Amino acid sequence: MTAQRLDGLAIAQQIKDEVAREVAALAERGIRPGLAAILVGTNPASRVYVNSKVKTCGELGIYSEKHELPETTTTEALLHLIARLNAREEIDGILVQLPLPRHIDTQRVLDAVDPAKDVDGFHPVNVGKLMVGEPGFVPCTPAGIIELIRHTGIELKGKKAVVVGRSNIVGKPVALLLLAQHCTVTICHSRTVDLPAECRQADVLVAAVGRPEMIKGDWIKPGAVVIDVGINRVDNRLVGDVEFESAQRVAGHITPVPGGVGPMTIAMLMKNTLYAASSRA
Ligand code: NDP
Repeated sequence: MTAQRLDGLAIAQQIKDEVAREVAALAERGIRPGLAAILVGTNPASRVYVNSKVKTCGELGIYSEKHELPETTTTEALLHLIARLNAREEIDGILVQLPLPRHIDTQRVLDAVDPAKDVDGFHPVNVGKLMVGEPGFVPCTPAGIIELIRHTGIELKGKKAVVVGRSNIVGKPVALLLLAQHCTVTICHSRTVDLPAECRQADVLVAAVGRPEMIKGDWIKPGAVVIDVGINRVDNRLVGDVEFESAQRVAGHITPVPGGVGPMTIAMLMKNTLYAASSRA
């Protein structure tokens, strides 16, 4: 048996087509969604992500602007910029590309973004809404993961989901979303005692670790849905957190890296920006 591949590129394209249609409908009412992306420093991966987000905005008819700041930028200067963007009506979404340089107080920066413009869903107000199940901005990667799983057609209710990783960006929010879908959720991390045994229980396995090919095929329950969030550069190629070759022989569905979760993240950012602009309308 070979697992069915979950084609993130194709599913993301469907979402972007839908966003483009709705952007065009908003334009008839005189509204153009606007996204401001802030990039601090010279991290090459961050630069690639921001450029890709800005480019996608252009393709969908969303206005965007890129604020590139030097590595030496202070927390205060960043807070100043965010205050200005918060005040501008034509900016619906503000995204601060993470990670920020170490001398910057990341949490203070995220707290400064107007929750109504927090299209990354990292402001504590939106984090809290996700926790209590109120509508708000949901972080893009976790939202994209749920969308990918939805495309398998598999009913999540009652399934055992295992999330490896407990970051605020991926692990914790995706665990909450799976819980909201009535999964029984286990969150694993670096102190988990027997990770292979935990993974073998999973009907849905989400790997968000950042360790190349750590999760092996024989850790996977036959027929499981395997979502590989990891993006690791090894010898100039990208690999996930799951050992794809062995895993695809056991899983029922699996995401490739690249072409799985990555494109979904950007598509969901576009959707969140549209949603922010619709609220303005
Ligand atoms: P973090 O580094 O913030 O978190 C990694 C998590 O993995 C931590 O909770 C850590 O545990 C856990 N972990 C580390 N080592 C082990 C281990 N040996 N066994 C079990 N758990 C372990 O990473 P992110 O969540 O930000 O990102 C994870 C991966 O996803 C990265 O490769 C990143 O590049 C990728 N990513 C991809 C995105 C996309 O769009 N496709 C978007 C965001 C991230 P502990 O908490 O105990 O330290």
